[in-house]
Amino acid sequence: MISLSRTTTSPEATAALAAGLADVLAFSDVLAVHGPLGAGKTTFTRALAQALGTRQGLASSPTFVMINQYPFTNQRLGQGQLIHVDAYRLTSAEDLESLGWDALFEPSSRLARGNSIALIEWADRIADALPHDLASLTITPVGNSERTFDFSLPDAWNARPNVELFTANEPARCPTTREWVSPTAPTYPFASERAKLADLHRWFTGGYTVSRAIEPDDLDENM
Ligand code: ADP
Ligand code: MG
Repeated sequence: MISLSRTTTSPEATAALAAGLADVLAFSDVLAVHGPLGAGKTTFTRALAQALGTRQGLASSPTFVMINQYPFTNQRLGQGQLIHVDAYRLTSAEDLESLGWDALFEPSSRLARGNSIALIEWADRIADALPHDLASLTITPVGNSERTFDFSLPDAWNARPNVELFTANEPARCPTTREWVSPTAPTYPFASERAKLADLHRWFTGGYTVSRAIEPDDLDENM
């Protein structure tokens, strides 16, 4: 298992973290999200859906409809769907059957079928229906706005192109725009190429200052 722990201090930083995970996901993945009420499961899921490229916003709560499906178009993955399951009220395999579970999950591997990625809340209630290669995320509220995200990802994910960036980088604020930037952003820690160039420009035009007086050694004698 790949273990990764991250702490964020705002919903925006959480969204950047979710966008990083979105860049690591592949079709058939199943992600279990754990955490108490108010931990940030919906905040994380909404940002993940958005980063995947869903057209419609997340339903405010899937509690009455236990399975929601959100089609998405993603630059890397192409067309797919995010399956959002709230297993809170589910107790038995029979429940799953009546929800049409087998049409969405492959019975032998228990992975999501076709071009789908599944996110399951309260996954412990349907443990028997979960795949061996399950990814999981536990969100722990620390204070008012501090949340710890503990990821446990299958070892097989180490072969995925964005895993290295996702595990090496933390969400960061763009030095130019102050937006939160995903760990997997190609211009990390900048929000965009433009923001990166603006920062470079600031260097050249003296927008940055050194914290001590310039000494002779700092200067090229031949200039
Ligand atoms: P859950 O779905 O787990 O019950 P929600 O995502 O609905 O939780 O609610 C999380 C609440 O915590 C939101 O009101 C959000 O604004 C707030 N919050 C504060 N700090 C954070 C953070 N760092 N990450 C995510 N949410 C946060
Ligand atoms: Mg919720």
